[in-house]
Amino acid sequence: MTDVEDLLAYVDASPSPYHAVEESARRLLAAGFEELAPGAPLPAGGSRFVRRGGALVAWAGPSRGADDPFRLVGAHTDSPNLRVKPRPDLGSAGFRQLGVEVYGGALWNSWLDRDLGLSGRVVVRGADGPETHLFRVDEPLLRIPQLAIHLDRDVNGGGLKLNPQTDLTPVWGVGSSGPDDFRAFLADRVGAAAADVLAWDAMVHDLTPSTRLGLDGELVAAPRIDNLLSCWAGTEALVAATEQLAPPAATPVLCLYDHEEVGSTSTTGADGALLASLLEQIVTAGGGDRAAFLRSMARSACISADGAHATHPNHPERHDPDHRVAIDGGPVVKVNANQRYASDAETIALAVDAAERAGVPHQVFVSRNDQPCGSTIGPLTAARLGIATVDVGVAQLSMHSARELCGAQDPPRFVQLLHAFHAG
Ligand code: ZN
Repeated sequence: MTDVEDLLAYVDASPSPYHAVEESARRLLAAGFEELAPGAPLPAGGSRFVRRGGALVAWAGPSRGADDPFRLVGAHTDSPNLRVKPRPDLGSAGFRQLGVEVYGGALWNSWLDRDLGLSGRVVVRGADGPETHLFRVDEPLLRIPQLAIHLDRDVNGGGLKLNPQTDLTPVWGVGSSGPDDFRAFLADRVGAAAADVLAWDAMVHDLTPSTRLGLDGELVAAPRIDNLLSCWAGTEALVAATEQLAPPAATPVLCLYDHEEVGSTSTTGADGALLASLLEQIVTAGGGDRAAFLRSMARSACISADGAHATHPNHPERHDPDHRVAIDGGPVVKVNANQRYASDAETIALAVDAAERAGVPHQVFVSRNDQPCGSTIGPLTAARLGIATVDVGVAQLSMHSARELCGAQDPPRFVQLLHAFHAG
């Protein structure tokens, strides 16, 4: 179950946040969870989940009293990429092209000269109102061609300079574009008439399958390791929590958010009302009132699960010399005194305790004082819900590249750590 090959399958099943939610939902349903429609009344107890767009909240319990604490694992389903604009049909120099918008802090160069597919969701006019369909195209469809070296002589020594408006437009054919080519293409994919396509959330993905890499396959090369690795680990840990004989003292919860890469302020992001609203409904479904919910929050704990930077072999000077992070050195507890990560002494202790009980090693990350630090959903969860939170994740290289790299031993260890956290 926690084999790293299963992580590769999860990543390849999830080219978009909607597909990641679909894949987690599939696994939860197979483990006996029941899906509730958004806005449906929450029954007491049981293993259930709700999804909304690129977000999913799942829980098992409550186990005893209405003001039971929660043990939450939060992660994000989105990764930086390129997304199709509303009027995308472009062309230049005899090529048909597709207009795209940059989503999040992507490493733009990593998208050049790759064979790209498309995925996402499309909303079409249905008999009873708008209907949402997921779609994915895994045939080579798009390519962002880099300028030849002969036409850009300084690029290797002088650095590649890219303008996101003019340098990142993929080609997807030759000839001239019609005004509704993309709409017709999508309609065909979901079996609708072009005139019935109302809107889309469509994005590109690299078609190279995830793979083991290295002399002995010690590494994992895959897209979207940040943060589908954590979505996978959180899903597997929640399923494992429901399979243990003794129910845990705290209600285990998994929250997969969308929109972390663009600041999390959305209906399905960590800075929205989604999780707080569901947690309160879980408490009230169990017979508790608002005061019971607030008592529960005060005793709950959260692991914000997100990628960590491994020390780069070609640039060790970019990392704090006393806090080296090794690939396959164990899950990484991330610390930032300025609260870019939510970890503090008491919550770090929770993570270390979980690692020790799981029998897995752990590492600690802190960035250089002269290097700005990234952030996660951790501080948002801590602030919005008043839940004690620690940031933990698996070490990787090339974060936000179209193709990232991590170790093969760390992902299953992360599942074990999260499982121990739920059980503790
Ligand atoms: Zn992330």
